[in-house]
Amino acid sequence: VKKPKKEIEKEETVSLVDLDTTKVEKFEEFPFATKTKAGLRKAGFVSLTAIQRAAIKPAMLGKDILGAAKTGSGKTLAFIIPILECLHKHNWNSLDGPGALVISPTRELAFQIFEVLKKVGGKHNFSAGLLIGGNNVKEEAHSVGKTNIIICTPGRLLQHMDTTSYFHMNNLKMLILDEADRILDMGFKTTLDAIIENLPSERQTLLFSATQTKSVKDLARLSLRDPAYISVHSEA
Ligand code: ADP
Ligand code: MG
Repeated sequence: VKKPKKEIEKEETVSLVDLDTTKVEKFEEFPFATKTKAGLRKAGFVSLTAIQRAAIKPAMLGKDILGAAKTGSGKTLAFIIPILECLHKHNWNSLDGPGALVISPTRELAFQIFEVLKKVGGKHNFSAGLLIGGNNVKEEAHSVGKTNIIICTPGRLLQHMDTTSYFHMNNLKMLILDEADRILDMGFKTTLDAIIENLPSERQTLLFSATQTKSVKDLARLSLRDPAYISVHSEA
């Protein structure tokens, strides 16, 4: 007998709440969607790093996060997995438009995130797009409004918000600010403020930064709501 959909979702939520992540070592132990687990397996990811162990559960429960972790600690999966789970839970499809937005300081980092998303999220049916300087703006304009997961650099995203007609992010569920300290160091403060002003305020925000400077704290105050503070220093 098939269970009603509501009941299944409730079951999964309960087991995630009860999951003691301090004891969890492998992705398989999380109540992720089958498609997410298959993507992780295919990409060869088995054990969690420290930041993944600390961030994934609160992120999946809808908490805002202020995460401090150095380069190489595995931050990408710490936000890619919650994005996939969030959109999956909401039965997201192309008609819903952008559901998650990842802002990265540089084209190279944005490209790397996009590659991880394609590998791990490949079993899901979400559309994904890379909005970085250097590509054709007009070509991007045709698809950007239908793209479910957008990975971008700040300048190019604001350009679309300002010039691409009918482009909006009114349905957006999640905003990820990756390497926020570098975004600010590169002089994108005003651009970032303008982007955030265009986003729905009921969204969830995950902010990752290697350092906690005053400008990062200011940004956190502006963009996060009652965040969980996660700081990871040692290796997994
Ligand atoms: P960060 O964004 O914190 O600098 P990344 O997400 O780019 O770190 O990950 C750094 C490296 O570690 C990448 O090569 C990635 O493939 C690898 N990695 C991340 N998470 C895991 C994991 N759970 N198991 C094995 N390797 C991982
Ligand atoms: Mg990174």
